[in-house]
Amino acid sequence: MNKIKYDKLVSECEKELQPIFQKIDEQEYQNSLKVLNAFKELNISESDFNGTTGYGYGDIGRDKIDKVFAKVLGSEDAIVRSQFISGTHALTVCLFGLLRPNDLLLSITGKPYDTLDEVIGIKENPSSLKSFNIKYDQIDLINDNFDIPQIIKYLKDNKVKVIEIQRSRGYSTRNSITIDKIKTVVAEIKKISPETIIMVDNCYCEFVSDIEPVNSSIGCDIMVGSLIKNLGGGIASNGAYIAGRKDLINLVAERLTVPGQGAEVGPSQNMNKEILSGLYHAPSAVSSSLKTMILTSLILEKLNYKVSPSSSDIRADIVQTITFNDPNKLIKFIQSIQKYSAINANFKPIPEDMPGYSDQVIMASGSFIQGSSIEISCDGPLRFPYIAYLQGSLTYQYGKIAIVNSIWELINEER
Ligand SMILES: *Cc1c(COP(=O)(O)O)cnc(C)c1O
Repeated sequence: MNKIKYDKLVSECEKELQPIFQKIDEQEYQNSLKVLNAFKELNISESDFNGTTGYGYGDIGRDKIDKVFAKVLGSEDAIVRSQFISGTHALTVCLFGLLRPNDLLLSITGKPYDTLDEVIGIKENPSSLKSFNIKYDQIDLINDNFDIPQIIKYLKDNKVKVIEIQRSRGYSTRNSITIDKIKTVVAEIKKISPETIIMVDNCYCEFVSDIEPVNSSIGCDIMVGSLIKNLGGGIASNGAYIAGRKDLINLVAERLTVPGQGAEVGPSQNMNKEILSGLYHAPSAVSSSLKTMILTSLILEKLNYKVSPSSSDIRADIVQTITFNDPNKLIKFIQSIQKYSAINANFKPIPEDMPGYSDQVIMASGSFIQGSSIEISCDGPLRFPYIAYLQGSLTYQYGKIAIVNSIWELINEER
């Protein structure tokens, strides 16, 4: 294919996607409205940007941010802190906050995200939940659906303290979990075991639909996400949130800080403005990311690549996978994404060992914030079938530049 034909293909794809893009715009509108209403209701003022230092007592802006997130996500309460150093840390705090020795943790979406292996004790670690005698079991998905009969049987036979649902695919090949599927499984779980806490790893899923799992109409008890993904809007320079039932948020707050002090401490320093501004930009960043991913999938489908989700699938997260079946193509594509990123465009990423991951991983992250994946980014473990996990883009145009050029370099390489 020559460049003229390729450019024509790209513009035809964009034209074909207009109806889908319009739906994404409507979604962005609804989520923007939610954010704006929450800011107004909590009377967010310039003085809320003034953070605290030291213990962080009386941090009015921080306390309002917790309420803004709860309001936007539809939960009773939330804790949003830069003291969470990553999404994995927030998930860890949540699990350790909710589980006690001899309790049972059950994942109903198969094996959780790689970085949780040592947290749970799937991979031995003297600081794992397992080392505190907290038991773990999992029920795999069947064709990307919850195995509801198996879940029901398991709950009848065992007392489960926490059920974990991971929505996004992580480094697996399955699809992400839509809100409708969660609603169905939650109703079944609550019928049999109402006291079981349903916890959601919501990384990459916020604002992709118009409702979040902790909304009372869906019924999950608590959920966790990172601020260097969707809700940070590319502006929050670190941190994570946990949102859900008030009693549970108190437990995790006391695990993050100190029993008896919980969410009352934790200086925001100068993060309040960043976190608020990030949330303000998040609906637009998620919308740009989705459009970039959908354009990627359609172009690659037309070029006979294997992608997931497809351009017409309903999406639950901002991740796009491309299966290369070839390590060199995977490496080449990720290096191209880096080349068309804003920061470190002249770096050439190579596969490396990473803490928490069992295979070597190659990552393109030419982002303003280290490791941010709401900005255009692409990564993949060096293992068969050599899948690239592409996500993010703060604007559609920057995303388009990166993917259109990277795909062009990929197909040129093949000739
Ligand atoms: C990103 C992600 C996490 C947490 O990752 P961090 O890099 O620690 O922020 C957890 N679960 C899923 C599904 C993720 O996508």
